[in-house]
Amino acid sequence: MKECVFSGMRPTGKLHLGHLAGALSNWLKLQDEFECYYCIVDWHALMSEYMNSSKIKDYCREILLDWLAVGLDPEKAVIFQQSHVSGHAELHLALSMIAPLGRLERNPIYKEQLENIADKDLQTYGFLGYPVLMAADILLYKATKVPVGEDQSIHLEIAKELARKFNSTFEEVFPEPEILLTPTPRVPGIDGRKMSKSYNNALFISEDLNEMWDKIRTMMTDPARMRRSDPGEPEKCPVWHLHKIFTQDEEKKRELAHGCRSAGIGCIDCKKVLMEWIRFKLEPIQKRRKYYEEHGLEMMDILREGAERASNVADKTIEEVKSAVGFIL
Ligand code: SF4
Repeated sequence: MKECVFSGMRPTGKLHLGHLAGALSNWLKLQDEFECYYCIVDWHALMSEYMNSSKIKDYCREILLDWLAVGLDPEKAVIFQQSHVSGHAELHLALSMIAPLGRLERNPIYKEQLENIADKDLQTYGFLGYPVLMAADILLYKATKVPVGEDQSIHLEIAKELARKFNSTFEEVFPEPEILLTPTPRVPGIDGRKMSKSYNNALFISEDLNEMWDKIRTMMTDPARMRRSDPGEPEKCPVWHLHKIFTQDEEKKRELAHGCRSAGIGCIDCKKVLMEWIRFKLEPIQKRRKYYEEHGLEMMDILREGAERASNVADKTIEEVKSAVGFIL
């Protein structure tokens, strides 16, 4: 029997090349090896976006389009929306009964977000309980592997602690999930900082490729190359870090690096090559995305079937939880 993997994404808008090169590339490999549950975690989105909840529905659609476009396959993985499977909310409630308040209040991610996010009301019970809901998501499927970034490892620790506490307080129901550390390349945005929608520096998976070229054409490079005749250092250039991910011709990359260091090529020449490789990667993805945009009913079916498959597993776990705590006669 295959080990179970759970991972989710909050629906906050269209996905970008950072998602593609990071999480989604990993998910594509994992769906061939494990029993994967890929979840659009809309309840999680509500925690921070409850003042703007009308957008969540559209964001769920966008994220699903991007997932299917890049090749997540409903024949291989269970693809579904969190709120369509009631077990997530039920297990969240059960785990919240045993979640130590002090542990949640000391969570550094919680404290950092409270301090730094000023434009949202995060002073809510739901936001404090974010890791409890995340634990419920994972434990509901008894997932043993969770592909999350280092930044989320604290949340996974809390999930393990809650599994342990539930098992020792009631009955052994949950395996302890392990973090599945997967290499994620550094993906810079057009200003050189980490690619992020909130920095307004992202190149989106679904973006018109002519508009993308306008962004790449003016993208930041090694500041040493003020003039065409100035030599540069590729390692100091965000364009080069995108070449490392998308340009699949090693000989060409060596040529570009040499051309940069010797001022033998200009930055626009270098960027044109990058754009061609990004185009090569994105054209089939965008074609598939268009297909699904025109076949909305097929997307609804995928979500409905995904929710059914997920519920079959989730309902059994909830029965075990109810039995363990003593609700079932
Ligand atoms: Fe960057 Fe390429 Fe210009 Fe070198 S030639 S600075 S790698 S864009």
